[in-house]
Amino acid sequence: MKNQVFYRAYRPQKFADVVGQEHVIKTLHNQLKAGQVAHAYLFTGSRGVGKTSIARLLARSANCQGMTGGEPDNSCDICREMLEGRSLDLMEIDAASHTGVENIREIIEHLNLPPTRAKFRTYIIDEVHMLSRGAFNALLKTLEEPPAHALFILATTEAHKVPATIISRTQRFDFRKLTDEQIGRQLQKIILSEGLDIEKEVASAISESVDGSMRDGLVLLEKAVYLSDKKTSAEDIQRLLGITPVKFRSELLELLQAGDLRKISDFFKNLSAQGYSLEQFTKDFLEFLRNKLSEDMDIQLSLISEHFLRAYQQLRVSPIPELPLLVASVKYIQSKAGGDKSNSGSGQKAVEPSLEKLTVKAAHVLNGHIEMSDLQEKWGDVLGRVREYNQSLVTALKLARPTGTVNGSLTIAFPYKFHADAVNSAKNRLVVERVLEEIFGRRIAVNCVMQKDILADNYPGDYKGKDNGKGKNNDGDNDLLKSALDMLGGEVIN
Ligand SMILES: [Zn+2]
Repeated sequence: MKNQVFYRAYRPQKFADVVGQEHVIKTLHNQLKAGQVAHAYLFTGSRGVGKTSIARLLARSANCQGMTGGEPDNSCDICREMLEGRSLDLMEIDAASHTGVENIREIIEHLNLPPTRAKFRTYIIDEVHMLSRGAFNALLKTLEEPPAHALFILATTEAHKVPATIISRTQRFDFRKLTDEQIGRQLQKIILSEGLDIEKEVASAISESVDGSMRDGLVLLEKAVYLSDKKTSAEDIQRLLGITPVKFRSELLELLQAGDLRKISDFFKNLSAQGYSLEQFTKDFLEFLRNKLSEDMDIQLSLISEHFLRAYQQLRVSPIPELPLLVASVKYIQSKAGGDKSNSGSGQKAVEPSLEKLTVKAAHVLNGHIEMSDLQEKWGDVLGRVREYNQSLVTALKLARPTGTVNGSLTIAFPYKFHADAVNSAKNRLVVERVLEEIFGRRIAVNCVMQKDILADNYPGDYKGKDNGKGKNNDGDNDLLKSALDMLGGEVIN
C-alpha cells in the first residue's frame, strides 16, 4: 500500500479527476480558457467537499506554462514547484491559526512585489471566517484595489461569518455536499487500486456515514484498513469505527421536531439493539446539528444542540446510556411546548400526555437504579467499607448526607466545603464510587456539594448503626478536626 494517507494520495491532479462540483469546474474551466481569471474567489461549503483541492488546481492552472483546456499540465517548472510545495508565488494560509492582522499585513507586503516566476502571486486562505476584524479590514483594502498579479482564493465552511464587504469583492462558488454514491464510487476505486481485501458493502457503509464529506470518507477507509487485519466486512467497519448511518441523524431531528417521545424512546432502543454506540451516535448527531446551524442559525436547532451536548457529557457516567438522551429529548420538547404556547395551544396538548408518561417512566428507571431508601439503609455499610480504604474519608462522609440522584449520579451534601472538595477529588471519589459499586452492584457516579444546613437535617436511616456509634453527636468536633488534619497531613496532639 502507498505510504501516504488516502486523502493526500488521491487528491485530484486535474479538474477532470475531481468528484462532484461540476458547476464550479465548468465556470473555472471557461475562465481559464478565456484567460479571464478573477482576482479573488470565495469557495464556501462544508468540510471535505473539495474546496482546497480545487483551490490548488486553480492556482496551478492559472499559472501553468502549458495549460490546455483549463487543465494544468503538472509538468512545467511552475506546476512542479507548486506540487512540491516550494513555489515562492503560492502561499497557503490556515486562517484558523493565523487570525491576526499582522499575518495579513505580511501577505500584503509580500503582494507588493511582483511574482518571482509565475503569472500571479497566489494566496489560498483556508477557514477565512476565522480572521480577526482587523485582519478582514486589511484584506478588504487589498481586495478593493488588487495589483494585477494578485490571485486570492478564500475558502470557508461558514460563509455567514465572512463580512459582506469581503464577499461582494469575490467571485463566490458554493460547493455542494457529495452524494453517497459519489463517495462510494471513489472509495471503491481506491479499494481496487490499492488491492485492499475489503467487502464491497464497506464503501457504501462508510459513504452513508460521512454526510457528504469525501475527506471523512477517505479517512475512515484508511482507519478501517489499519484497524482490521483480516477481510473487512461492512459490519466490521461499523463495529470498529462505531459509525452510524447518516439517515439516523435526520430521523432523530424529525422526531424531536414532531415531539413524539414514544417514537424517540423506541428510536434509542433500536439504535442500541442494533449494536450502535449511543456515544458515537450522539457525537455524530451533534456534528450534524453543527453543520445545520452553520447553514441556518435556527433557535430550535441551537436548543437541541444545547440539550444533547449536556447529554453527551453525561453519557460516560450514566449507567443507562439511553437515559441522558431521553432526558435531553424530554427537556427539549418541554421547552418547545412551553415556547409554542403563545403560538399554538393545540401543539402543546399533543405533546403533554406522552411527555408525562415518559417522565414517570424515566423516574422509575432512576429509582430502580438506586433507591434513596436503599441507600439510607445501607449507608452504614458504605461508611464501613470506605473506612477500610481511607480513615479520614469516612470522617468527612459521616458528616455528609446523600441527598438524591440526578441523571444516575448521586449527590452527597457536606456541611464543610473542604470536605466536599476533598471527597470530590478524583482519587477519593473513586474510592466512594468503588464502594458503592461493591455494595449496590452497579456503577454509581458521585457528585459532592456543600450544603451548610445539612447537619440540622434529621436523617431517617440508621446509618451510624455499623459505625460503632461514633457519630457526630459523640465526638463530631474531634472527628472534624482530625479529618481536617488528616487531609492536610497533620496529626492531633492530645
Ligand atoms: Zn504547468
